[in-house]
Amino acid sequence: MQHGPLRNAYLDALGIDRWVPRNAPAEVLPEPAVAPRAEAPAVPVTPAVQARAPAPAPAPQAPVVAKVPPLEPGIDWGPLRERVAGCMACDLCKTRTQTVFGVGNTRADWLIIGEAPGAEEDRQGEPFVGRAGQLLNAMLLAIGLPRETVFIANILKCRPPGNRDPKPEEVARCLPYLQAQIALLKPKIMLAVGRIAAQNLLATDAPLARLRGKLHHFGEANTPLVITYHPAYLLRTPSDKRKAWEDLKFARATYTRVAGTN
Ligand code: SF4
Repeated sequence: MQHGPLRNAYLDALGIDRWVPRNAPAEVLPEPAVAPRAEAPAVPVTPAVQARAPAPAPAPQAPVVAKVPPLEPGIDWGPLRERVAGCMACDLCKTRTQTVFGVGNTRADWLIIGEAPGAEEDRQGEPFVGRAGQLLNAMLLAIGLPRETVFIANILKCRPPGNRDPKPEEVARCLPYLQAQIALLKPKIMLAVGRIAAQNLLATDAPLARLRGKLHHFGEANTPLVITYHPAYLLRTPSDKRKAWEDLKFARATYTRVAGTN
């Protein structure tokens, strides 16, 4: 698939220089290889799964359970999605429209991890939609990754009201789902976008400025982990787009090294 002109348009829209390997012919921009391991069906987005009780006589709500019941070892995508859709392990289940499981190629080499669904994601049931999603798509495409070739998930599967920061207990209860997704996907590289995702994955309170620009590793598989800005932040602070572009190039180079591709 030819994405060169489109990628260039995105780069121009981002206000960042185009990435041309030193040995490339001057007239031809090479296509960074997109290397999903195999074609796999995209994970579908399910419709709303939780109806709200009508006022003024609300139906009694099921009690919020204390924690996520243990996930069966080796749980597959379908059952995992169902578990998330019915989860009531923290208070966010009371205010969500629906859970936002994640989307993308379930055999992707790249796992993109954000913070939590926003209002539009809560409505649509898909992570990174709206303006921030469009910018994330542009960022990924700029390094040769159409959205459908990666998997995208959040630390939290339900929207915090008012887009407040996730509470530690919410993260603790939701993290087993992301860990199960990582175990299933076995990504070759993870890209965390934003402070919340980075800090929770790395179990640190260090500021994002100290976390980006270096290679981290995550979990028992020691998966390479690169940190960059959240696209919503970049929309508010376009002057940092250039730093984000450096992060993306770093992630791409890391992937090339670990995956043995070019
Ligand atoms: S945020 Fe996570 S732990 Fe809390 S209800 Fe939603 S799926 Fe369950």
